[in-house]
Parts: sequence; structure tokens; C-alpha cells
Amino acid sequence: MLQYQFLFLITFLYLGIFPETNFFAEEISPGSAERFGGEFRKNWMPERPVDESLLKQNGIRRLESKHLTLYTDLPASEQVDNLPTLFDQLIPLLCHYFELNHRHYETFKVEGFLIDDFEKFQQGGAVHQVPELRHGYALRCRIWVRNPDSEYYRRHLLLHEGVHTFMGYAFGVWGPPWYREGTAELLATHLWENKRLTAARFPKSRNELSGWGRIEIVRNDFTKNRFRTIQNVFELESEDYDENTAYGWSWAFAAFCENHPRYQTAFRQTAWKLYGKPDSIAKHFTELLIKKIQNESPEWNKQEIMDHLDNDWLDFITNLDYGYDFERTRIDYDKNIQPFSAISAKEIQCQIQTDKGWQSSGIRLEQGKTYRFTASGRFQLAEKPKIWYSEPNGITLRYYHSIPIGTLLATLIPDKTENFAPKKETTGIGFSMPKNFGYGEVWTPEVSGELFFRINDFPSELSDNNGSVTVKLTVN
Ligand SMILES: [Zn+2]
Repeated sequence: MLQYQFLFLITFLYLGIFPETNFFAEEISPGSAERFGGEFRKNWMPERPVDESLLKQNGIRRLESKHLTLYTDLPASEQVDNLPTLFDQLIPLLCHYFELNHRHYETFKVEGFLIDDFEKFQQGGAVHQVPELRHGYALRCRIWVRNPDSEYYRRHLLLHEGVHTFMGYAFGVWGPPWYREGTAELLATHLWENKRLTAARFPKSRNELSGWGRIEIVRNDFTKNRFRTIQNVFELESEDYDENTAYGWSWAFAAFCENHPRYQTAFRQTAWKLYGKPDSIAKHFTELLIKKIQNESPEWNKQEIMDHLDNDWLDFITNLDYGYDFERTRIDYDKNIQPFSAISAKEIQCQIQTDKGWQSSGIRLEQGKTYRFTASGRFQLAEKPKIWYSEPNGITLRYYHSIPIGTLLATLIPDKTENFAPKKETTGIGFSMPKNFGYGEVWTPEVSGELFFRINDFPSELSDNNGSVTVKLTVN
């Protein structure tokens, strides 16, 4: 069974005094962010040098690479001695992620302390800057990590604190907790195979990440009705990170943005303007997002874009799992939805692809009217070990969300979506509480809104589905 490592990564940045510059009026870009960071570093206090001989006397050895000097009391092993190589690979990946010129970071160097016996480091005079060390801590270009049980998690903590030091060095500030911890968690979640680092990994299975447990944290909160809206994530405060749930939700939001083509750019570019009050950073993120989407799709207004963001987030959290298929679950909203009454035909047919998530029918249902649906079709639900066929009533051999896989589901996204917290009592409103349609249904919706369909399946198992369902819709 997976043992959660309670993560109390204490983070800190010496804020000092903002440099006297006109950066706030400047166009936001990687260059402006770096110039701000450069000015900010001028105010950094000089570090008290590490006393190498005192550390050595206390059984602490030194490992060296281009970007990291690592002091540790852990005995030599391939896993520990490769950590500087791992760290060196992180830096160019961060430059790429934040669109920074890697040549500016050739001399970026971190002093790290990987600690098994805290007392040895106390006697070695290397922890005087650390108020309390439960898991990890970063200050300017120094990091401290307590050695965890899991080798995955040891690397994770080193990378997490490494992201903090890099952002502090490059940008001068880390931004509000949701952004600084979300970004650090996103980029530290990794794959280390054949001495090659893949950062910002969306895990395919829980076996990849011993001791990580972020998906379980969010799923556990969700099933206990502790869903966090995006606004709730924005409102997380530093003290909330005494509990590892805050890390789980911050990672989830960052991973959601990183893997969704509509949201990736805005989330990444928020890093270029992290100074200011916490709520101004959230506002900056949403402004970047609206600007990008309206450039590509001018038909959507601000409110619609924000509603889509909230709906997409709710769908993601409802189905969050290892191997989540972002490509197939991406929801395309239909700007030209029409009410059934505006269509001259008596019957409307919709084709629902079984290898995708929610799909718009292009139809708007009206509150209080009664509709009759019939569904038909035979489709493939699994390929291995043998092909499984299903019809819209599903297969009772396997269940997802307590509903047989293959079952046709439907839901409405109300015209005005103000509260996205799932409502247990009402099915058929929002992506988290669909109606189970099966072969058919007679339905009188309680609200008006856009009608969506999908078949019930695990979010990591859509790629082996094949075929479609035909839904016929009439007004009763
Ligand atoms: Zn942190």
C-alpha cells in the first residue's frame, strides 16, 4: 500500500525591499522578468560560507556538479551520487519552460544539504538559516532536504526546492502560494530513467512515484465533498501548506493548466510577472488566459471563457487519475448551440464518439420542457486481453463511478454557471453529476443549458475504445 509522505515543504523568500525601477510599467516578457530578478538579487544578503572542514569532521561529504554542490551524510550509492547530475538536467528544462535564455544561467549554482542526521549538520554549522526542517526548505541559492524513505521522493524534494531557488534567482519573487508551490510541484513531478530527467511528468501509474500521493489527496478530498474551485486554490495561504492537501491541489491546478492547450501558455507566462499582491497574480493569470483565447477564438466573451475554465476544472477533478488522457477528454464547446425549438426537424440525431470525453450535442435544452431520448449502437470498449463490446446500457463486468462502463451519460451545462461545486442531489447538471441515460430516458431538465454526452469509462482507458452511439431526441 502506498504510504503517503506528509509533505511540509516550508518555503520562504527573503523579500527585502523592491528595487527602484520602472519595471512595473514595462511590457511583460522573459527579459523584463529577468531584469527585475537581477535588480532584486543585488539586495540579497551575502551568505556565510560553508565550513567544509567542520562538515567533514561531522561525517558529511561533498558532491559537485555544474549547478549543485551537495553536502550529505548519506553513504555513497548510485542513487545519491547521481543527484547532482539530476539537478544539472533540471536547469535547462526550467529555462525552456519559462522561455529564458539558458546562457544566462551558466553560472547559476545552488548549495544543497541532503540531511539524514540533522544533528551532524547542526554541529557542522550548516542549518543556522533553517527555522524548522520537516521536508524541504529553500533560501536564495541554498536548499535543505531531509532524506525521505523513498528514492523517488528524495529526488522530488531536491527538484522542488531547486525550482524555488531557480525562480527566486531568475525572477526575484516566487509569487503567491498557489503559483510557487504549484509550479514547484508540477516541475518536480518527474521520471528518472537511464539517467535522463523528464520534468513535469503526468504520472501514468502510482508505481512511478513512491511516496508522492498527490492524486490520492485530491481524490480523497473530492469524495469527501471537499472540492476546491479554482478560486479556492487561488486563496490558499502559506499556513495551509502545513498540510499536504494544499500541495495536492496546487499540483493538480498546475498539471491541469500544463496539459491543457487552452491554459498552458497563460499559466507558464504568469511567471514573468510575479510581483504584487497575491490576488493580482491570479488576476494576471486570467487576463493572460482571456487574451490568448480571444486572439484565437474572438467569439467567446470573458464570462464564457471563465465558465469553460471552471467546467473543465470540474471535469478534470471529477475524473483525476493516473494516466489521465488529456487529449481525448478535452471538451470543445459549441458557440452556435441552438434550442431544440429553433430547429425545424421533429427529431434530432447526435453521434457520440466512444473514445472521447464530454461532447457537445450542439443543442440547448429548455427548463421545464420534456424530452425523450433513445440511444443505440454497438461499440468496442477494450482491446485486451480480448475485445469487449458494449451497447449504451454498459457492461456490468466493470464499473467506473459506480456506473457500468459503456453506459451513455448526459448532462447540461447551465446557461449561467455560477456555482461549480458539485450538487449531490441533482443529476444532469454539470460534468460531475451526469444522468445515466443507457438506452434511453425521458427528461424534464430543471435548468436550461447546453447538452453534452459521453460514455462512461476510465479517463486513462479511452484510447482502446472504438465506435459511436446514436442518440435520437424528440420533444415529448
Ligand atoms: Zn515549496
